[in-house]
Amino acid sequence: MEVVPAENVQSVVSGNRIVDIDFFIKQTKKLHLHDSTCIMGRKQFQKELKNGVTSVLYYHCDNCEKTITLSFHPKEAKINFDFVWGSTAIGIGKGQAEELFSVCLSPSPRFYRKLENDVERVWEMQHQSETKKVADEERKLAIEVGDIDISL
Ligand SMILES: [Zn+2]
Repeated sequence: MEVVPAENVQSVVSGNRIVDIDFFIKQTKKLHLHDSTCIMGRKQFQKELKNGVTSVLYYHCDNCEKTITLSFHPKEAKINFDFVWGSTAIGIGKGQAEELFSVCLSPSPRFYRKLENDVERVWEMQHQSETKKVADEERKLAIEVGDIDISL
């Protein structure tokens, strides 16, 4: 994970991100809810914690000293895996994916490699499952036409 301190982002968030828009809009309601209960507080953007193509924004309230976090994706989302899966599916590696998504953030080389391994493992499991399904179907058809002696 990479932390972008507030001084490096000029106290406001800028640039492009990949977000689950419905989820993120709901997340921003946390700031409005805080405003309605802590009317004297001023919220200051603190940092962005990046995790691959997703991030969490941290705001600090100078009145109640609470930190409010806004996530771009639900915790259970597998956006980084999906990013690598999509890149692999179209036949591009990390370098090309970075170029394609140069307006957004992409995972670090080490994290990307881990995600590639995850994709490879799932891909292989799906391939084996499909291969077994085809083999079972061929066996069933062969038995039906009498090409296989099942008495052995
Ligand atoms: Zn507050």
